[in-house]
Amino acid sequence: MDKSTIIGVIGAGTMGSGIAQVAAQAGHAVVLFDARKEAVDKAIAGLAKTMDKLVEKGKLTADAAKALLGRIAPAHDLKQLAGCGLVIEAIIEDLGIKKKLFADLEALIAADAVLATNTSSLSVTAIAAACKKPERVIGLHFFNPAPLLPLVEVVPGLASGTELAARSSQLMALWNKTPVICKDTPGFIVNRVARPFYGEAIRIFEEGIADMATIDHAMKTVGGFKMGPFELMDLIGNDTNFTVTKTVWESFFYDPRYRPSFTQQRQVEAGWLGRKTGRGYYAYADGAIQPTPSGNAQVHADICWRVLVMLINEAAEALHMGIASREDIDMAMTKGVNYPKGLLKWADEKGLANCLSTLERLQAEYGEDRYRPSPLLRRSVRESKTFY
Ligand code: NAD
Repeated sequence: MDKSTIIGVIGAGTMGSGIAQVAAQAGHAVVLFDARKEAVDKAIAGLAKTMDKLVEKGKLTADAAKALLGRIAPAHDLKQLAGCGLVIEAIIEDLGIKKKLFADLEALIAADAVLATNTSSLSVTAIAAACKKPERVIGLHFFNPAPLLPLVEVVPGLASGTELAARSSQLMALWNKTPVICKDTPGFIVNRVARPFYGEAIRIFEEGIADMATIDHAMKTVGGFKMGPFELMDLIGNDTNFTVTKTVWESFFYDPRYRPSFTQQRQVEAGWLGRKTGRGYYAYADGAIQPTPSGNAQVHADICWRVLVMLINEAAEALHMGIASREDIDMAMTKGVNYPKGLLKWADEKGLANCLSTLERLQAEYGEDRYRPSPLLRRSVRESKTFY
């Protein structure tokens, strides 16, 4: 796979149009297909607008923008993808529909073409199983917005060819992306390790320890996160965030560590999805009064630490289970969701014994498996080791 490889993108929605832009920006000819013709037309019109803005801002010359758009060919028939060397699928998150698409695609494309899925929550292995040659299938998980966020999780399925992850990573680096390689497990790195950022914050709120504005304030001012958990859930959409949480929990065979909350479920049931519906945890109507944070510096520090230690524990567990290397776990959280620091590095700075004793205290107090410390954390403390 190199610049001469024609890239097919299937699904011209939020992710597909962004991925098409990234591939064209890297110099590839791109074929963009969607089951709905209007989706392709809308994506092409949207990309033209994006190019205009980039030209206006002086980030791209008018000629370069025109050339970039010229490299993206709209397709209204799947057969038009026949000449692609790499096809990236970004259609609806439905295993049955994705499997059928991959089987149809395989009948069209060259014997050595690579098929990638941008799935967030499905098993790459399960999608690949629809193909006669599952060794050519890989997960390439981009983050939204794909042209802006550098991270790509490269996820080989059980049957993926041994070289495919390395080849795919090289291509992503050529696209100016930051690839990390991770095991085909629920949530990959980011959507798994980030769960406590939302879940533990909601738990603190549910227990009445602090209100949302105070928790958001603590995470930003003490933790250095760009957004607080409740603000971020409102931005992502409570429906989307709740679905990811539920899917990860179910996929881990109902491990209590990932259990969703009634608080968020009620938000979804009320239609309080966040910014997109004008109401979420906060109100977004014109003139809406925003709650102000309360509590003193100690309260803020305690709140932030409880969430942070849960995040650290999840990162440690991902490392323990060989989901990815320590560098890739840390890279994923800084490049995919803008965390101020890699969690394993952060753990070293805070002291692993300190992290462990907080988790043990929480586990003793609540008696819940949710707070069980990762064996790697225990072992590291016992052997006086750090993560780096
Ligand atoms: P979207 O709804 O914006 O776009 C999906 C597009 O796929 C639609 O235009 C739809 O018409 C088209 N489509 C549906 N079935 C099709 C089929 N059988 N053949 C061709 N086209 C079909 O969705 P999205 O947010 O871009 O998500 C797409 C994929 O990317 C999903 O697997 C999702 O999990 C994943 N993803 C989403 C995000 C995100 O933040 N939105 C981030 C990373 C990964």
